[in-house]
Amino acid sequence: MHQTDSAQTTAPAVPRQAAAPTGLSPSRAGDFMTCPLLYRLRVIDRLPEPPSPAATRGTVVHAVLERLFDHPPAERTPERALSLLHPQWQRLLTERPELAELFPGDEDGSAVARWLGDAEKLLGQWFRLEDPTRLHPAERELYVETVLGSGLLLRGYIDRVDVAPTGEVRLVDYKTGRAPSRDFEGKAMFQMKFYALVVWRWKGVIPRRLQLVYLGGGGDVVTYDPDEADLLAVERKLEALWEAISGAVATGRFPATRNRLCDWCDHQASCPEFGGTPPPYPLPVQAGPDGPTEPARPAGPDEPKSDESNKES
Ligand code: SF4
Repeated sequence: MHQTDSAQTTAPAVPRQAAAPTGLSPSRAGDFMTCPLLYRLRVIDRLPEPPSPAATRGTVVHAVLERLFDHPPAERTPERALSLLHPQWQRLLTERPELAELFPGDEDGSAVARWLGDAEKLLGQWFRLEDPTRLHPAERELYVETVLGSGLLLRGYIDRVDVAPTGEVRLVDYKTGRAPSRDFEGKAMFQMKFYALVVWRWKGVIPRRLQLVYLGGGGDVVTYDPDEADLLAVERKLEALWEAISGAVATGRFPATRNRLCDWCDHQASCPEFGGTPPPYPLPVQAGPDGPTEPARPAGPDEPKSDESNKES
């Protein structure tokens, strides 16, 4: 089970010890590009985030789509997928009993039933977009990582890797939300280019196709065929991003940046943009050549963003 995007993230609601970042995943790279403070609170302070029904539904649907390929092609039917839904939900509940709190006061089980009904719709949508009887994934939920020449560690989980008889590789990611508008399509595909870069640097093969499968809304499949220039550009962008993150880590400056996801952010109470105060910066603030760097402070809205260019730490 992995966490590739915020819609799928169901972090445990228990405090964890603060830690310096050791590498980049697509989700956390996206966090920093969206709001450096959000990145800090998730990756460094590691503040707990309560599970949400939508994120948990995404986790269960991903698990069903992964397990469906345990069955022979002819048995990968909608009925088989639906039969896996309840067991996967029960398995997740066993692993993480706190998820039972997602449905408080649901004595008659109707809220859970509605929630599972929505998951069924997402699975039904998938069968309209892809035909699993014709797919032969080489990998599912594949953990990938590589270290770039600069020493930057990149890592993440790829939902599915298809390899054609000709050797061409396709990377596939399922999204349980709806497809973004054209304006935000590039941001979504950035995650896939990140994975393509990791696979290229890891295996020496540039994936032929990147594919996002959106199960929400009317359903959609978005593809992109990357080339070497694309991946070199992503590599440069990630190196620059890591430099910006390293600078922020050293100074403790992580400006809050209002964005369209603020309404869903679990950290408004720690965010100056919403009248909150971040916890004291937990890492040592490094001294610069001219003496100690001024202490970390909450950044105001006018502070320059660490990166103007724009699901794991
Ligand atoms: S509420 Fe918005 S600005 Fe504040 S930390 Fe969350 S994402 Fe950043």
